[in-house]
Amino acid sequence: MARPMCESCGMPLKDEVKGTEADGTNNDKYCLHCYADGAFTAPNATVEEMRHYSIKGMTESGWPRFLAKFLTKNIGKLPRWQKADTSVP
Ligand SMILES: [Zn+2]
Repeated sequence: MARPMCESCGMPLKDEVKGTEADGTNNDKYCLHCYADGAFTAPNATVEEMRHYSIKGMTESGWPRFLAKFLTKNIGKLPRWQKADTSVP
């Protein structure tokens, strides 16, 4: 079984970072940075914006920038971004 990851930003989805529903229960698909209180924190974000945001968050947490860029390269392939046609430049 694959390790769970956020279907929006791709970060590992441990219990302590799971998003929350409006009733306070955990959401098993998204992390708390992407999804809180039953809604996306940035409902109109594009893949590029999400990637930019993720890289920023990772480098601020001490990750090297090249590694953050590498690890966020496939964000556009995550389930959240498959329905909307946001991959076209
Ligand atoms: Zn996320």
